Amino acid sequence: MKEITILGSTGSIGTQTLEVISELKNWKVKALTAYQQTELLFKQIKKFNPEFVVVVEEEAAVELKNRLAAEPTIKTEILSGKQNLETAAAEKVDILLNAIVGFAGLEPSVAAAKAGNDIALANKESLVSGGPVLTELVKENKVKLLPVDSEHNAIFQLLKGHQSELEEIILTASGGPFFSYSREELSQVSVEDALNHPNWEMGSKITIDSASLMNKGLEVIEAHWLFDCNYEDIKVLVHPQSIVHSMIRLIDGTILAEMGPADMKIPIQYCLTYPRRSETAGNMLELDQIAALEFFQADTDKFPNLKYAYTAGKAGGTFPAVLNAANEIAVYSFLRGEIPFLAMSRVVASVLDQHHNITAPDLEDILNSDQEARRLAVEVIKEWF
Ligand code: NAD
Ligand code: MG
Repeated sequence: MKEITILGSTGSIGTQTLEVISELKNWKVKALTAYQQTELLFKQIKKFNPEFVVVVEEEAAVELKNRLAAEPTIKTEILSGKQNLETAAAEKVDILLNAIVGFAGLEPSVAAAKAGNDIALANKESLVSGGPVLTELVKENKVKLLPVDSEHNAIFQLLKGHQSELEEIILTASGGPFFSYSREELSQVSVEDALNHPNWEMGSKITIDSASLMNKGLEVIEAHWLFDCNYEDIKVLVHPQSIVHSMIRLIDGTILAEMGPADMKIPIQYCLTYPRRSETAGNMLELDQIAALEFFQADTDKFPNLKYAYTAGKAGGTFPAVLNAANEIAVYSFLRGEIPFLAMSRVVASVLDQHHNITAPDLEDILNSDQEARRLAVEVIKEWF
């Protein structure tokens, strides 16, 4: 039996990881964590019997403890508070899967790397914001960092044996629900429209990021850190079918592509079985049932987030953390109906403009820049709306 801890077990990636675990059969759950979803956590505890569970929110933890008091056969310990996420991440396991959403995932990733736990990383924000620190720790502690994100998982698979022949990485983007919209139409879209992704069912934050192309921007930075690649050698193509999960171009002009169904359980499973593969219960892709595979340039005038992500990534230091923090504030404001869709990238641009870079940041610099950028983003939104 192998042991896994899942951070963010109640989310889209977290629940799919537990489905994969059930199918693989040779995994035991050490710990689960979530922000507050006690109902779902209760079900997960009954099914997977973890040693302990961390519920960040104090009251939710109390509620969960009370419910478990009526279940004398369950021995799972319940902890609460943000610091215990790091405790969970540092407990020795075969793999730590980080499926927390947002910057909140960074410190647990750092704790896992310091403890020498191999990491399956869905939480791209921890690499975007903490890239310089996290990649150093990963090297120092000889940690395997396996990408769950479908594009990066694809590239990780494609690079096997081709590392020294790599010309460039080509990340594919679905383009989201608004790919063919005009600026005028984009100014009118509702939260509901933006949450309606054509190909993938995901948490609300990444769904909005996909619609604004910030998700691809974050993924460009994620690819830079994962594959040690210059930004000039990371390209983006819009591919509305989401069949090609990404590509690499080799020095002789050959392009290798990884294809499959739009199903996150495949990259999740590959991280767990790596370097081997095993069968899946999921649907197989039948290429003859797909009319066409299309590829387009991304329109960065319409979706400036992608441009800002390249600029922040190239500037390096604390800029990517600031991009990410301003975006998180903007996305949650949009989701609460406080700002229109197009204002999100304006908020990000304004906060980036006000930032003074720290070129070789440590964790504290990154945490401070994140905090400061959040404060500025809130201020900008208050001033404008
Ligand atoms: P989600 O919103 O569905 O789930 C997030 C999880 O994190 C939940 O368990 C929640 O309780 C927990 N959480 C939220 N805020 C927290 C906090 N402050 N502290 C601790 N825990 C917190 O998100 P998701 O769609 O599963 O995405 C998770 C991560 O995976 C994101 O970084 C996302 O970009 C990445 N990702 C997701 C998909 C996808 O298909 N959903 C694909 C690729 C990458
Ligand atoms: Mg992705």
